[in-house]
Order: sequence, then C-alpha cells, then structure tokens
Amino acid sequence: MTTDRVVIVGAGQAGGWAARTLRDEGHQGSIVLVGAETHAPYERPPLSKEILLGLSQPEALTIVDHAALESLNIETRFGAAAVAIDREARQLELTNGEQLQYDKLVLCTGGRARDLPIPGIDHERVHTLRSLDDALRLKQALTTQAGHVLVIGGGWIGLEVAASARQLHCGVTIVEFADRLCQRSVTADVSEVLQNLHASQQTKVLLGTHVLAIKATEQGLNAELSNGQSLQCDHIIVAAGLLANDELARQADLTCNNHGIQVDGLCRTNDPSIYAAGDVAVMETAGTAGWSRLESWQNAQDQGMAVARAILGHDTLYRPTPMLWSQQFDQFIQIAGHVHGGAITAMRTMPNGGTLRFYLTADEVVAGVIGMNAGRDYRFAKQLVERGLRAAAAELADPGIPLKQLAAASLAA
Ligand SMILES: Cc1cc2nc3c(=O)[nH]c(=O)nc-3n(C[C@H](O)[C@H](O)[C@H](O)COP(=O)(O)OP(=O)(O)OC[C@H]3O[C@@H](n4cnc5c(N)ncnc54)[C@H](O)[C@@H]3O)c2cc1C
Repeated sequence: MTTDRVVIVGAGQAGGWAARTLRDEGHQGSIVLVGAETHAPYERPPLSKEILLGLSQPEALTIVDHAALESLNIETRFGAAAVAIDREARQLELTNGEQLQYDKLVLCTGGRARDLPIPGIDHERVHTLRSLDDALRLKQALTTQAGHVLVIGGGWIGLEVAASARQLHCGVTIVEFADRLCQRSVTADVSEVLQNLHASQQTKVLLGTHVLAIKATEQGLNAELSNGQSLQCDHIIVAAGLLANDELARQADLTCNNHGIQVDGLCRTNDPSIYAAGDVAVMETAGTAGWSRLESWQNAQDQGMAVARAILGHDTLYRPTPMLWSQQFDQFIQIAGHVHGGAITAMRTMPNGGTLRFYLTADEVVAGVIGMNAGRDYRFAKQLVERGLRAAAAELADPGIPLKQLAAASLAA
C-alpha cells in the first residue's frame, strides 16, 4: 500500500491513535484527520477530574500535537465536521464544502452527552461534559459561582463531576433514576460503597429519582424532582450517558444498532472500505450477549491502533477485555472483564484497606475484577481476567497468597 488515502473522521482518542499508528507502522499513502473540534487529539478522562480541579493544563491531555502531526505528514482538517459520505464515489463532504476522496474511511466520531427531555433544560446554567471546551466552561462556572450543584445521573461521569464539585467546595446533590449508582457496570455491593463514599463527603444521593422540570429563579435554578421535592441550585450538570455520533454512518446506510456502528473483529463495517473504532463502534465481545460498546480510554486507544493495523493488512482480530477506571475523592477504581452474573464471588482486602472483588464462572474462571485502591495487585488480578485463568475463590480472597503466584500456578496447570 503506497498511495492509498486513508481519511479518519473524528480527531479524538481513537482517531488520533489510528492516524499515528498508521504512519508509525508503515502506511506510506496520505492520511487525513478530520475533526469537528479545533483541538489536536486529546484524552478525555482528566476533563472530569484534573481539569475541573485545576490540577492539569489542557496541553497535558494532548495525544499527538500539531507539530507531531505535521512531522508524521498527517494532514488535518480541524474545526470542520464531516456531513455526508458518498459510498459509491468514495467521497466525504465536510461542513466547509470540501469533498475528500478516500480509499479507506475510518469513523471515530465518538459520542455526545445524552439530552434529557426536561422542560427548562436548555438554560445556560445547565451543563454537559464531553469536550475540553465543556470542561473549561464548567470549571469557570464552578469556581466563580460555587454554590449548590445538582448532578443528574449517578454513572461514572456524574460521580466524578460530583466529587470534583465537592472538592471545589460546592454543595452537591446527585439524582439517579435507577435504584443504585453505576448500575450498568458494577455489582450492588460496589454501588453501595460508592454511595457511602459520596455521602461521607456530605453529598446528597437521591436514588430512584428524576428531574421533572427546571425553572430559572432569581437565585439560580429550581429543579422539580419526581419524589415531590424541589431543589434550589446554582448549576445543573447532566450526565445521563452517551449517544453515539453515528448519524454519518446511518445516512450512508451502514449497519448500526441502537448503540452505534456495527464492526467485526477487524473493525470493518458492512462496507469493505469503511471502518469504525472507539465509542461510536459496537462489536460482539466475548462474555457479553449481543453487540456492545466499550466506552473507555483503553478501548479507544486499543481499537484505534487495531483499526490502523487492519488497514495495513494485519489479520489479528481485536478481542478486547472490557476495562475502565475512575477516580473519585481518594478512591481509584479499576474494572476489568465481566462482573455481572458471576456464579462465585470473592473479595480480597489488602493491608492498606484496598480491595479486589473477583467474579468467577461456575468452573472458577476469573471473568471479572473490580479493584478499589488495589495498587500493584490489580495488575495481577487483571492478568487472571485477561488470560481467562482459573483460581479458587478462597485463595483469591486470601491476601497472604500473592496473586502473581495464583496466576503462575493457573498457567502451569
Ligand atoms: C468527562 C469524561 C471522563 C472520562 N473518564 C474516563 C475514565 O476515567 N476512564 C475511562 O476508561 N474512560 C473515561 N472516559 C471515556 C473515554 O474518554 C472515551 O471512551 C474516549 O474518549 C472515546 O474516544 P473516541 O475517540 O471514540 O471518542 P472521542 O474522544 O469523543 O472523539 C470523537 C471526536 O470526533 C469528533 N466528531 C464527531 N462527529 C464528527 C464529525 N461528523 N466530523 C468530524 N469530527 C467529528 C468529536 O468532536 C470528537 O472530537 C471519559 C469520558 C469523558 C467525556
């Protein structure tokens, strides 16, 4: 492949890694990276943590900066969104009217914060958090008008923003529609740990509750809640999940489901010239029923690299272990594998008070792990999951038995 032109839509984490890997690993044709944002590709996890807290500067988030893009001979179109794909002509149209020819097209358009149909939600003091610009606006709001903040949504981003707002001395209330926090990704005991963590910081957590309406008042905002109460606050942050930016693909008749663009193990859509990666892509993942989207830093990076390798002709299938992490107050939470539906569970408490919860199948295969301040031990726990190793629950729970030893024994068996 010497002259093929690869066009990547979405200059986020997956798009940035796809472009960089293509060039680093030998693509000699042209590469064009199209991004709706004006920033070079950057990492989003610090947006709800270090950026809000003022512990990191925006430059520190960059994955590949403008100078590196130039030296890698990667053309960019930043500040221009792609609006249409002509599959027959292999042509992409941008908002600035430009038409880009492609030989291979990679869709890394990520997602956006889900809107909720709540009357009054379009007020300027109601925020969402997806981009660096959102984070800088929110930081400004929280640091200059610190009062009471209502967070709608008790998932990871909602909890992280709530923790940051508390650390910025705001009063915080979280309302969550479900009857526990982070219901989709953790077991009920971990939801309870998270709830206690936030309650211990004087955050009010209202479960099984949603917001019916938002009204502007002289003092700020008033939220009418489904539990009959109303809440006066200065800012509202909506963190109610992600909607895939898959409109381009849908308009071009690529196969999508409710969660995004369907791809196979080589990141290919149903059009052999078009690929997808990152939050916008859904794939069949071992251990989950049906198609799923892995909304995480790790997946965006790994699938971005995998799509580049697939275009370069490698035939190694991308088979990720789901992984994510979160930081809230002094808790560092790490998750690998599948934690729901485990037949057997085991919990190890380390001398520093950190914990590892293991989720095993009926035949003692370690299918998932959740670490909370688990330190270096998490690395070995993750290896057990990634390699699908077997271990006895009693041994996993015993902090006197090194996990490294359990992994080695299982490999040797
Ligand atoms: C606040 C926040 C905190 C997070 N924290 C964590 C964490 O702690 N741990 C973790 O594992 N994961 C975390 N994540 C998730 C992780 O950051 C995402 O999974 C990852 O960024 C997905 O990468 P992506 O490239 O698929 O999408 P994105 O990084 O969202 O990039 C997509 C890009 O495509 C652009 N785009 C969209 N449509 C078009 C178009 N038509 N034309 C051109 N460009 C377009 C968008 O503007 C965007 O720049 C967090 C996410 C957020 C928002």
